[in-house]
Amino acid sequence: MRIVLLGAPGSGKGTQSQRLVKEHGIPQISTGDLLRAAVAKGTPLGVRAKEAMDAGRLVEDEIVLGMIRERLAEPDVANGFILDGFPRNLLQADALDALLTELGQPLDAVVQMDVEYDELMRRISGRRSCADCGAVFNVLTTPAQQIENDKCPKTGEPHKLFQRPDDTEETVAKRLKVYEEKTRPLIDFYRGKGILQTINAEGDVEEITERLEEALQAATVQTPAAAAKRKAAAKKKAAAKKAVAEKAPARKAPAKSAAQKATAKKAPAKTAAGLKRAAAAKKAAGKGATTKAAGKTAGKKAGAKGTRRRTAVAKAGRKTKSAPARRTLAKKKSAVKKAGKRSR
Ligand SMILES: [Zn+2]
Repeated sequence: MRIVLLGAPGSGKGTQSQRLVKEHGIPQISTGDLLRAAVAKGTPLGVRAKEAMDAGRLVEDEIVLGMIRERLAEPDVANGFILDGFPRNLLQADALDALLTELGQPLDAVVQMDVEYDELMRRISGRRSCADCGAVFNVLTTPAQQIENDKCPKTGEPHKLFQRPDDTEETVAKRLKVYEEKTRPLIDFYRGKGILQTINAEGDVEEITERLEEALQAATVQTPAAAAKRKAAAKKKAAAKKAVAEKAPARKAPAKSAAQKATAKKAPAKTAAGLKRAAAAKKAAGKGATTKAAGKTAGKKAGAKGTRRRTAVAKAGRKTKSAPARRTLAKKKSAVKKAGKRSR
């Protein structure tokens, strides 16, 4: 499953991506990580990216797309991926769409993680990181007592919490504004493609994961690619069924003619075997047979029993004269009839 999670900073994309990675065994492709790795390795694209960064320019989309292309050629994305950090604007979305179409790996789902502005602000501006171990806490959602009691694994003392400059209210407001202007238009872009799902990303983390999974399931059902896949699978199944159906009589026919050619000696043997099978089926029927042959035989047997019972009932009916008794008998009769029919 090929997924993009869309959401403002603080919408919980990172947390939910991690959960999807674990649950579905697909990698998270972070363009930030790709960039850092390419620069560190000194790949041709990495060298170009470094030039841009050193010159204080944004790395061109073309370079990032090239890195995504290289990444998608690796075997671990065969079952899909979660794209992280890309696309961030319409131009990138268009370019990504063209690339994925070319590679025959179109997105299955784009999930918008919806969180109210105030909640985003609360989530991010409440963030504090430990200067020693890097653990992140939210002072607005986690009780102070709990944070104080949590000892730092590095120092054994309470964590030394500070607010990263990225997380101050002022910076958060700027980041959210950029998201609204640049990234929000992607929602309409993907809605137009029929692959957008929106979930309420506020509340309990577990519940959000559940909503996300539901959305992904719905997306798989809806995407044209998935529909085509399902159609192909159904066609294949039908073809296989047909092949079996065609094969079955073909197999029987020669067997029949062989049987016809067979001497009279074989016929009783066959009958004997048939009787044996029938006897076995009778036994099995008592225990609740599951095979078709046994079921048929059992049905016949039950039918015969039904006839016998019907006769007995009829006889009994003639003996009893009272109307209520006859009604009861009639009910029994029809019940027996029904049972006979059903078992046949
Ligand atoms: Zn710490």
